[in-house]
Amino acid sequence: MNIDGKTKLVGILGDPVSHSLSPRMQNAAFAAAGLNFCYVPLSVSHKELPAAIEGLRAMRFRGANVTIPHKVAAAKLLDCLDESAARTGAVNTIVSSGGGLTGHNTDGAGFISALTEATKLDFRRAPAVIFGAGGAARSVAVALAEKGVPRIAIINRTMEKASDLKALLMLEFPQVEAFAIGFKEDCADLIFSSKLLINATSLGMDGDLKRFPMAVDKLTEDHIVCDLVYRGAKETPLLAAAREKGATSMGGLAMLLHQGAASFKLWTGAEPPIEIMRSALESK
Ligand code: NAP
Repeated sequence: MNIDGKTKLVGILGDPVSHSLSPRMQNAAFAAAGLNFCYVPLSVSHKELPAAIEGLRAMRFRGANVTIPHKVAAAKLLDCLDESAARTGAVNTIVSSGGGLTGHNTDGAGFISALTEATKLDFRRAPAVIFGAGGAARSVAVALAEKGVPRIAIINRTMEKASDLKALLMLEFPQVEAFAIGFKEDCADLIFSSKLLINATSLGMDGDLKRFPMAVDKLTEDHIVCDLVYRGAKETPLLAAAREKGATSMGGLAMLLHQGAASFKLWTGAEPPIEIMRSALESK
């Protein structure tokens, strides 16, 4: 990497951010595409987020990714939002152009691309349970509703956020049956009668399934279990439990790849070198 006066900067705003594999993946992609770009991790607390976004502007960053826990808050701090960000109320990609910062959301499309690559799922016959109601859960829920899933149950620790997401689904997708459920409620039957089970909380990052409020014993080999959390080459505890039950599983790296490829295209206008990005992730 030759950093010089013309290098365009891109970063990832998050807390924590040190675990992120995006710098590795995006810098490999910029190098392979011969682009003078550099991608840096930026550890930013909740309180510092407005200043950090102003900093992107002041330092002429080409853009940024936004990750846990800032996706919803960032949407309120930008000059405008594209349709994907406006619909979900969450931003994972910022692009600077013409002096303004625009928020985009590539998480939902990245999740669908990853799932389509990994399975032959008929979305119209796939009721879903989503754990979480943060930025990633909102994107995944909207993307699944757009694909025609018949039912989405949102299970979250903070009931208010689950109810907000349910309200969004009911407003935008009245044909989808939507539920909001608290973490301590019994959701075993909903899990049993669903096809897709998605973890969009940050639980499992530490490798501990014990706090996971789900009836893992309701999983069968007909389920598809997706964990948005990734732990490098290590399996998350949810995916380990799914494998033991014979369920199909998809880890977070597949979604990371596809959402990152879409962000790359937004910043550079170039086609993302997908296989280089995949190798960068898999070699970690
Ligand atoms: P977020 O907006 O901060 O939402 C975090 C979610 O996790 C909320 O639903 C929160 O519940 C829940 N949560 C956090 N700590 C918890 C705890 N101790 N007990 C119960 N629930 C807890 O974050 P996000 O951006 O949606 O990201 C969520 C996860 O998805 C992160 O691990 C992130 O790395 C991962 N992700 C992966 C990809 C990928 O490409 N693989 C893309 C996006 C996100 P409350 O509402 O109750 O706080």
